[in-house]
Amino acid sequence: MATIGFIGLGNMGGPMAANLVKGGHTVQGFDLSAEAVARLTGAGAKGCASAGEAASGVEVVISMLPAGKHVRDLYQGSGGLLASVAKGTLLVDSSTIDADTTRAVAAEADKAGCPMIDAPVSGGVAGAEAGKLIFMVGGETGPVEQARPILDMMGRAVFHAGPAGAGQVAKMCNNMLLAISMIGTSEAINLGIAEGLDPKALSEIMQQSSGGNWVLNGYNPHPDAMDGTPASRGYTGGFGTALMLKDLGLAMEAALKDGKATPLGALARTIYTLHDAAGNGHKDFSSVIEFLQHGGRPSQ
Ligand code: NAD
Repeated sequence: MATIGFIGLGNMGGPMAANLVKGGHTVQGFDLSAEAVARLTGAGAKGCASAGEAASGVEVVISMLPAGKHVRDLYQGSGGLLASVAKGTLLVDSSTIDADTTRAVAAEADKAGCPMIDAPVSGGVAGAEAGKLIFMVGGETGPVEQARPILDMMGRAVFHAGPAGAGQVAKMCNNMLLAISMIGTSEAINLGIAEGLDPKALSEIMQQSSGGNWVLNGYNPHPDAMDGTPASRGYTGGFGTALMLKDLGLAMEAALKDGKATPLGALARTIYTLHDAAGNGHKDFSSVIEFLQHGGRPSQ
């Protein structure tokens, strides 16, 4: 068992760190929010007063932060961890950020003598709590394999996508596709309802037919189509519209930089921007079906 510094104990990081404690690791946690630190100490971890303290005397540091600037600030700069952490410490960033920032921070970590991998996740808060996340990992094979048993304790699958940044690229491509298929599935269900079909019956037909997809299999956007989905509980407890919008922004920045046409990704971003602007940022991203019905205004 290892001693692990865990930085960023929010909706995702908190339960991920708690699963490492449950698995027998010694976890030293830090978050800017004292409440988040207290929640983790309640689960049996050591609470720390700074990122430096959490990363001191550990074999592995895991970070789970909101965006690229937070990751840069944590690791780089005069007060950054790369200046203080012991050489050879394995650094794992699980935040969803742009691949260029990931590659730049990993290169700096390499210069400081610390292997670094990117390991963003899919599976949301429910997956983090259940220890059933999917990890999409970028980095050298040695550190990826070193991290694998630790990631296994927080997830149900670990994919090594390629070198540094490859995990972020895989995550960005996956979420762009997910956003597009959520909108497409919502359109089809709305049209079927307008033509007199029952959303549950139509969903079951499409699920077994050539339109079948991940959204229809377990994340149906219609409240009456499937039990246990965010839609069935008022679009709560899933993956927020604002977070999907962030991921689509990362995809569009990459497409612009690479000169690649992603017309459906761009349209999905516009639709999610409007849905977010109508006050739905906190609702699960499947609520986009409401936007397609009535511009995101509350149901009549
Ligand atoms: P969150 O806002 O709940 O948690 C982020 C935490 O980081 C907060 O508690 C904040 O206080 C802390 N933080 C920020 N800067 C810090 C610093 N310098 N030092 C220490 N703590 C700091 O966000 P989340 O939902 O846990 O998401 C974290 C990451 O996971 C994001 O990159 C997100 O895109 C990604 N993600 C989220 C989900 C999801 O469903 N929530 C799913 C997949 C991936």
